[in-house]
This record gives sequence, structure tokens and C-alpha cells, in this order.
Amino acid sequence: MIRRLLRSIRPRTAAYFRRRLLARGIDATDQAAAGRALILAPHADDEAIGCAALIARKAAAGTEVVIVIATDGRHSERSLDIGPDELARVRRIEAVEAARALGLAPGAVRFLDFEDGTLDANRGPLSAAIAAIEAEVQPDELFAPHVDEHPDHRTLSEVARDTLLKSTRARYYEYPVRYWGRVPWVTRASNPLHVIAEVILDPIREWRRPRAMLVRTADHLDAKRAALSVYAGEMESVGHFVYPFALTEYEAFFPITP
Ligand SMILES: [Zn+2]
Repeated sequence: MIRRLLRSIRPRTAAYFRRRLLARGIDATDQAAAGRALILAPHADDEAIGCAALIARKAAAGTEVVIVIATDGRHSERSLDIGPDELARVRRIEAVEAARALGLAPGAVRFLDFEDGTLDANRGPLSAAIAAIEAEVQPDELFAPHVDEHPDHRTLSEVARDTLLKSTRARYYEYPVRYWGRVPWVTRASNPLHVIAEVILDPIREWRRPRAMLVRTADHLDAKRAALSVYAGEMESVGHFVYPFALTEYEAFFPITP
């Protein structure tokens, strides 16, 4: 009953929060090209969905961007058609290809190669790996995924905060991936009382969220489209709810402070 009610209000609440987020956001397009960036992505394609225009803008200005892909992507729905090992190989190639479409050299993409779906079981090694890359790259800006209902997205979001938020000298942002198409908050509770509590408390948290930094996609929408089309195989499975939102007027980044 509660679940059915939630399902019916989800699209409307998501649309409402999206409008509100954009209306309150600060257009930072003019500053977006500067600032060497480290971008943490749970899977190859998340960086393109959330940050492609930002990346293209920086690349066009000659600003250094390093993309870190945490998982090997072997277990997406496509692994039913192509074996997992082959799929992991294909997704590596696609990540480099997508980065090239955004103006980056192949060396800009780093792979941590954790098995798809196992980030939660590898929090220690994941933390050590991203700490080492951050120390090496010394970015001015750091972009981590915003928490959503995907377990790998949630884990990388949490581990990045725990590992880097206090220690980095970079400005720290989170970028939404599935946020746009689903709910602006994450309901994982199964106990009905917990569900009710989340449904009441999470919108309050959304309301109190700091204003997002907005980067216009204009001028780089073709590059973003090209990067997303490299991942066309993945987009068939997730595209129905992510893709329309990925190609809108702005990319949004939530500033996170310790
Ligand atoms: Zn993902």
C-alpha cells in the first residue's frame, strides 16, 4: 500500500525537486573551465551522464581532468549477451572512447577494476586507492557521485566523503546520476515505519541542501551526446530514466563541506 503510493508520487516529486534545484542553483558556467578536476565514477558511463559538459568545458580550455572508474562493469545487463570478461574489456575501451569524445587523452582515465557490484565489500581497498590518486593528482576540484539507490553509487559516495572530504584541499562536489529520473532521496527501508520516516525526513534534508553549482551544457551538448552514445549498450538498460535528464540545459553539482 505504502509502496504503491510512493511509486505513484515519485515521478512528480522528482520533477518538483529538479525544478526547485535548478531555480535555486548558481550558474557557475564561466568558472567551470578552470580548476584541475578529479572525477570519481562508480561505473564507466556515470561520469558522462553527470559530468560530460563540465569535462568537455575543461578539456577545451586545456585544464587537466582525471577520471577514475571504480568498477569493471562486468555485471550489467549486457553481460547476458556478451560474457562478463568480455564486457569488462569492452567497457574499458568505451570509457577511453567517451573521454576522447569529450576532448581528453586516453591517459586521463584510470581504472580501479573492482568487480562490478562489490564496492561495499571492498571499502578499505577502495578508500586506499582513491586516497592515493587524489594525493598524486592534487586536484582543485573533486567530483564524487551523489548517493542514490545503486549500491555501488552509494558506496563510492560514502567512501569518497569518509576518505577525502576532510583531507583534500580541493573544492568538493557531488554529481547526481540516477537522482534525476527517480526520487530525489533514497528509500531503502523495508520496515513501513522507517519508510514513512524517510519519506518525511528526506525531503526536509533536500530543502536544506546548499545551492547547487550549475554548468550550462550549451556548446558541449554534441560532445556529451557523443560520449553517451559510446555507452549506447548501457543506455539501453538505464537510459529510459537517466538519458532524458542527462541532456538537459544544465549539469548540477552539489557543494559538500566537511
Ligand atoms: Zn553507475
